[in-house]
Amino acid sequence: MSLSDEELERYARQIVLPQVGGLGQRKLKSARIVVIGAGGIGSAVIPALAGAGVGQLTIVDSDRVEAANLHRQPLFTEADEGKSKAELGAVFVRRLNRFVEADPRHERIGPDNARQLLGGHELVIDGSDNFATRLAVSDACVALNIPLISAAAVQFRGQVGLFRSKPCYRCFVGNAFDSDDCDNCAELGVLGALTATVGSFAALLAINSIVAVGSDQAGQLHLFDGEQLSWRTMRIPPDPVCDACGSA
Ligand SMILES: [Zn+2]
Repeated sequence: MSLSDEELERYARQIVLPQVGGLGQRKLKSARIVVIGAGGIGSAVIPALAGAGVGQLTIVDSDRVEAANLHRQPLFTEADEGKSKAELGAVFVRRLNRFVEADPRHERIGPDNARQLLGGHELVIDGSDNFATRLAVSDACVALNIPLISAAAVQFRGQVGLFRSKPCYRCFVGNAFDSDDCDNCAELGVLGALTATVGSFAALLAINSIVAVGSDQAGQLHLFDGEQLSWRTMRIPPDPVCDACGSA
């Protein structure tokens, strides 16, 4: 997949990076990534990936913009209240970068449709706000053998992990939360600057993973403490009896 003169000029500041170069930029251009949730995390992930020149972005979200979203979801403005977040996210992508193809999917992802929505992509970034969705997305990624970046933020804490089938996100969380569809942010609160931090980290992890910058981060969970302003990393051990990726 070649780059036009216009694209070479547009992405010059990242192509000049030896870790990226023309080869890395072509990898980004050929990448098909699906973003689950155009909320606080999606509001950081979507512009970063569109700006970087990821070739195709699918945006899955069944929500419509509410006033209480605006403090942490800068994809949207006051004039967008009541409109589809997936559709608005796609409009944002097309306005930012006409070289990126945006595919909005205004529907709720769950066990019944996850494989159909995620199939054909080479990376899934999940910024949804509840365990039931995150586990359904993870199980589908394991079944389809698609890498998953799972990102979450609540109150002053955030976490981001890259999973390549084994260990999977379910190895970390277990089976206790499959029916937990509560909205963490509504119940517990969250800062916009926190979701932006966690979302930007997830976008960087995605770009590094696609371009092959740095060491492979699969199976590591990065935890952010927004009060102490520090990151730490823990390794997720595979669960041998995991319902999704275990050998049973
Ligand atoms: Zn597992």
